[in-house]
Amino acid sequence: MRVRNLRHPIAKEFYMIDIHEITDDTNEALREILPRIEALLRLSEKMATGYGVEADIESGDGTGRLRIRPFCWCDHRECPRCTANFDHGDGYSNHELLRLGPLFKEQDHVDGKGSPNFSLEVPEISVRIWWYKYIGRGMYADRHLTPEDAELIETHATALIDRCRGAVVRAAVKNRLAETFDEMSPATSDTLGAAFAALAERFENPVPWLEKISCAVDDIARLCRDANQVEKCQTLLDGAGVARSDDDTADPDFRMSHSLTYRLERLLDRKTSG
Ligand SMILES: [Zn+2]
Repeated sequence: MRVRNLRHPIAKEFYMIDIHEITDDTNEALREILPRIEALLRLSEKMATGYGVEADIESGDGTGRLRIRPFCWCDHRECPRCTANFDHGDGYSNHELLRLGPLFKEQDHVDGKGSPNFSLEVPEISVRIWWYKYIGRGMYADRHLTPEDAELIETHATALIDRCRGAVVRAAVKNRLAETFDEMSPATSDTLGAAFAALAERFENPVPWLEKISCAVDDIARLCRDANQVEKCQTLLDGAGVARSDDDTADPDFRMSHSLTYRLERLLDRKTSG
């Protein structure tokens, strides 16, 4: 299949790239390799989903970049993953094309395929891979790939991840907190990510620390989720008319008489005595 790579949506000049189906033996290798790379970016083998992870890791010296994006179902016409045919301009105004063009280009959009789910740019290999929903299904690449190439991808992606541990930890923490608790402010999430990254970078071998950081992030995410539930319950009780305190004059800073437990006790007392 021959498709065009978006350079500029309303320019007449298009870059042609070949899209290759991935052969069964290479597919088998990639089905093992890509989730292992995903696990490194999630800090824990347990956390790999097989769908990919949001990651954009670039070495500071500009010698390598690794980008992974899970398959997207949003179907939004402005989503470079879901929009396959963009540079034909069908259904887009010139204004939209001018606005979206740079965004689509930044996302490495290829006309006919959308943005790739995996792309690795290092001096040794440059490759883009697409999959349908999960790694291993309906995969395509922008070049012919052999099982040896798949091993090369793993070697260089892993080396790049090792070189960029700080950035990887920051991205992983951000992803995990965003997935589990979207009420956490980006500033808090960034600060936590930076603190954990600094911790991981202090050690020659950060791997044992990555598991510990992973557990800490899980705990924080769980606590945030619980706190969010408490807020929702308080709102429900407000709506149901369960007072926060028996005494209107009570000091509003006296939190216990406003607490969820106190209010639930009142509600339950009311039920059992009524
Ligand atoms: Zn989408």
